[in-house]
Amino acid sequence: MPNAFLDDIRATLGEIQTDGLFKTERLITTPQSTRVHVGGHEVINLCANNYLGLADNPALIAAATQAMTDHGFGMASVRFICGTQDLHRQLETRLAQYLRCEDSILFAACFDANGALFEPLLGPEDAVISDALNHASIIDGIRLSKARRYRYANSDMVDLEAQLKAAREGGARHIMIATDGVFSMDGTLAKLPDIRALADQYDALVMVDDCHATGFMGPQGRGTPAHFGVQADTLTGTLGKALGGALGGYIAGPQPVIDLLRQRARPYLFSNALPPSIVAAGIAALDIVERADNLRATLFDNAAHWRAGLTDAGFDLLPGEHPIIPVMLYDAHKAQAMAARLFELGVYVSGFFFPVVPKGQARIRTQMNAALTRADLDQALAAFAQAGRDTGVLTK
Ligand SMILES: *Cc1c(COP(=O)(O)O)cnc(C)c1O
Repeated sequence: MPNAFLDDIRATLGEIQTDGLFKTERLITTPQSTRVHVGGHEVINLCANNYLGLADNPALIAAATQAMTDHGFGMASVRFICGTQDLHRQLETRLAQYLRCEDSILFAACFDANGALFEPLLGPEDAVISDALNHASIIDGIRLSKARRYRYANSDMVDLEAQLKAAREGGARHIMIATDGVFSMDGTLAKLPDIRALADQYDALVMVDDCHATGFMGPQGRGTPAHFGVQADTLTGTLGKALGGALGGYIAGPQPVIDLLRQRARPYLFSNALPPSIVAAGIAALDIVERADNLRATLFDNAAHWRAGLTDAGFDLLPGEHPIIPVMLYDAHKAQAMAARLFELGVYVSGFFFPVVPKGQARIRTQMNAALTRADLDQALAAFAQAGRDTGVLTK
């Protein structure tokens, strides 16, 4: 390998370090839960997407174990060659029923689902209009399609309408609006009723990525469209967050859309089938989630308590109603220092900074879950106040 190449790579790594943007990974030695061990140190975990606390749920573990016994470990095949078991179709049917769609199709991850969606469905004569804060996987998926690209400022409905007009005036055949249901760095909800109304007015489709909503937002946790009482035309989502937290993604929508994706979606055709353990645990997760009003109530009670506690302590929060509660620090070094001090005080959170959020928008993103107790939250609030004073984030 030429030395010059590795020198350039090292220079880039050096810049990441000096900008305070270098990310390190901590080694957790226990299952994902409200309290985890990191190097023998027990910490309260406030940065997992484990909204309903199912990541270490015994019923999911039992379903996964049973499926390994009766369906084996791996599929060693893509779905269309010899990788489709009865379990895969059961989960796809269950997801579709749960989400009130005609069918669904599984992927290895939602990153793949978003990478798969646009290219087979839209051609060069079509247009995609994408919210500026959409998840990286939507942005990449749109890049992989030949559709004309339009972008609107985050949740700005005036701008969305301007882009719809531009796409129509540009002669687009089909127009698809793509949005996260919940913007994961801010914890804000997409304005789906307005988006749906504009889509109908301009004869456009609506695609919603509901990764940070499925399982806990809306009736039965059916997500942001159910929360607002509107219909999305296609939905994408993950098994890697509230639905057990392992991995796996899906697209749900009308039958012909799902049928065409099974024929043409590249991450489906050229990537391995999900293992039976994961699929069976996904079915077990839906069994729980459909009846989990108690868990959802606890989750939102926890979110309200946490939000109020941080506000009282003097932190600057982004407003919202979602269990993602970002504490704004604006500066990457401060976010790192605050996360490090909190870790010493027994609270595990992660600083978020460029490129995950825009420069100057660094923050600590805290996330609530249904398994956290009041004692956990009060201990964590005391640690936040202490760390805030120790790092100079709080001045009182
Ligand atoms: C987490 C997330 C993804 C990726 O999901 P995976 O299943 O982990 O690949 C995609 N979109 C959004 C909005 C997400 O939050």
